[in-house]
Amino acid sequence: MIEVVRGDITKIAVDAIVNAANSSLMGGGGVDGAIHRAGGNAILEECKKIAAKQGGCETGKAVITTGGNLPAQFVIHTVGPIWYGGNNHERERLADCYKNALKLAVENNCKSVAFPSISTGVYRFPKEEAAQIAVRTVSEFLSKHIEIEKVLFVCFDDENEVLISKELHKM
Ligand code: ADP
Repeated sequence: MIEVVRGDITKIAVDAIVNAANSSLMGGGGVDGAIHRAGGNAILEECKKIAAKQGGCETGKAVITTGGNLPAQFVIHTVGPIWYGGNNHERERLADCYKNALKLAVENNCKSVAFPSISTGVYRFPKEEAAQIAVRTVSEFLSKHIEIEKVLFVCFDDENEVLISKELHKM
């Protein structure tokens, strides 16, 4: 089941919420800042350990930490592509984010996962195309992995909510 909701992802009680992190894993603005503020220091401590071990996280890849004080049990941090015009594998990397985040969710026995609109903030990915990639990639994954029962697209703004809803109606 895939649903779209309008709101703040830090308030969502699911097994895992996904963070649109940056490659340092050291926190940042936007949804990343909101998650670290609401979830507390335990999340950053685990991110630091992961960064020390593997030098951060590459674009399109994902890592998992505790949810700290959040209602979600886990945070899956994935690094979205920065939009440089579309000829630098931005679309593939964005699809990788959704796939790799869901893979980690399955490996950690998560049945419900919430995503923000990855890369559509300061990373400037065009929102309409980002919505198409998000919905297509998640639907494809769910058709092969019955372990995940629910995916929520948590939209912070009107525009993303309308675009994601439009894509879901096409399915
Ligand atoms: P990126 O660097 O991947 O573009 P941003 O955090 O700048 O990440 O933006 C990604 C999306 O997350 C944007 O659509 C932004 O509106 C949204 N966003 C920001 N704060 C929250 C929040 N608390 N919950 C859900 N979505 C959020």
